[in-house]
Amino acid sequence: MKILVTGGAGYIGSVVVEQLIAGGHQVVVFDNFYQGHRAAIHPEARCVEGNLNNRSALRQVFENDTIEAVMHFASYTLVGESMQKPFMYIGDNVTNGLNLLQEALAHGVRRFILSSTANLFDRPAKIPISEEEAIVPGSPYGESKYLLERILSWLDRTLGLRYAALRYFNAAGASENYGEDHEPETHLIPLVLKVALGKRSHIEIFGDDYPTPDGTCIRDYIHVIDLAQAHILALEALDRGSRVYNLGNGQGFSVRQVIDVARNITGRPIPERVGPRRPGDPAVLIASSEKIRQELGWQPKHPSLESIIQSAWQWHLRNPNGYEN
Ligand code: UDP
Repeated sequence: MKILVTGGAGYIGSVVVEQLIAGGHQVVVFDNFYQGHRAAIHPEARCVEGNLNNRSALRQVFENDTIEAVMHFASYTLVGESMQKPFMYIGDNVTNGLNLLQEALAHGVRRFILSSTANLFDRPAKIPISEEEAIVPGSPYGESKYLLERILSWLDRTLGLRYAALRYFNAAGASENYGEDHEPETHLIPLVLKVALGKRSHIEIFGDDYPTPDGTCIRDYIHVIDLAQAHILALEALDRGSRVYNLGNGQGFSVRQVIDVARNITGRPIPERVGPRRPGDPAVLIASSEKIRQELGWQPKHPSLESIIQSAWQWHLRNPNGYEN
């Protein structure tokens, strides 16, 4: 298939592109390089630099290439930032997605995969969190993804769009070639590894007074390679109907556990300091991924936190300055 990947120069997008190409697909990456990196684009992908708010640039892509499916990663993704800049999220994330959907459908493309988020579950009644859980977005970011999920479901009903919304829990780790490099970096694992590399003095723990065994927040870390595999399976299943899946390993680790595993793997000191809670952080987020396991046979190949952090560490050692080598 020929697949348009928006945000294909970003963290998760770049690994998905790598797997799509390894699976024999052709890929067109559409990215504005706001967070993405040219060096993160697989050499066999065609790259178009552009903004999703530019309808004519998007139209051009669909006119130049016979696109058969769209994977939509390009998005603002920070919970904290969305609390400061709600219009960037409820505004741009949604209107950019709408532009993309309108152009895709206008050109007869009816397969669409959306990057969604665990931030739909701010107050889960039950852990692990299944697709049955009530949707309570925790921020304008989560709301923007929920709005897109709702829009997709209407486009399925009205125009025959077939979509998958994949709600990622905490994507982490790296493939051999592609890893996590955000500016500024806000995610726990790359920050901890930057401390191990000596690029930062310490890791700040955002609160140790949560109702968890060690007082720090618990998250479900999923290897980016396993996440990418879920996209391939979802793509193959689209013609059998639209679907929504929560994606994680089903196991939670606290911030302190992550830091300890990183100390073991790197063999380097990682000083920590306890700071205040970060607004918007729920105490525990763990996914139930039973649905995608049963329906699509998805099975994580790298479920252990050790293998996730090990892969990220190897990538950071090879790319100590990220993609700006
Ligand atoms: N966290 C932390 N210090 C940091 C960055 C993150 O204690 O410098 C915590 C954060 O509060 C959360 C967990 O680590 O409980 C994972 O945060 P991250 O930003 O990686 O992902 P999120 O869960 O927000 O998607």
